[in-house]
Amino acid sequence: MSETYLIALGSNRRHGEHGAPREVVRAAMEELSALGTVTKRSPVIESAPIGPAQRRFANAAAELESDLPPPNLLRELKRQERSFGRRRGQAWGDRVLDLDIVLWSGRAWQEGGLTIPHPHFRDRGFVLGPASAISPTWRDPCTGMTLRHLQARLTRPRGNRRDAPWLDP
Ligand code: ADP
Ligand code: MG
Repeated sequence: MSETYLIALGSNRRHGEHGAPREVVRAAMEELSALGTVTKRSPVIESAPIGPAQRRFANAAAELESDLPPPNLLRELKRQERSFGRRRGQAWGDRVLDLDIVLWSGRAWQEGGLTIPHPHFRDRGFVLGPASAISPTWRDPCTGMTLRHLQARLTRPRGNRRDAPWLDP
């Protein structure tokens, strides 16, 4: 397996067969094995809805070793999102399954509508929580900070964020 990826999984809609969002995330974690070897799995966490979404989210993170290069992996992840019933154009709203490539062993990718590291992961606690739990020492190539460090900053009280400008409007 030539590539290692950190994948974020999220759901906030029930699935006809799998049931509650946390069960959707568990099932999706198993489906990732079709794309390579899942070497680390976080527990599933639940968090409050954001934006126009109405329901609670379930989230988790996994490390995946795979031979697929980034664009091919994204294509397969989108296929899995669709197979769980996600429709196009549902950004930020309610969704059965969201699969994001957060980090990649090849560090950065920006081409063809795919950006790695994922552009928003540094200010999303529901990504950083599970991701830092399984891969605390993985370094974000853009900031040079480890996931543990990024997570600690995000959960720190607001006044202390002067050194993390991307967290402020
Ligand atoms: P988000 O995941 O930020 O909540 P979406 O799931 O709606 O938002 O993603 C919108 C689009 O972003 C996807 O259709 C995909 O083509 C693109 N995209 C760009 N970079 C990534 C990445 N690293 N992981 C997943 N999708 C990405
Ligand atoms: Mg996504």
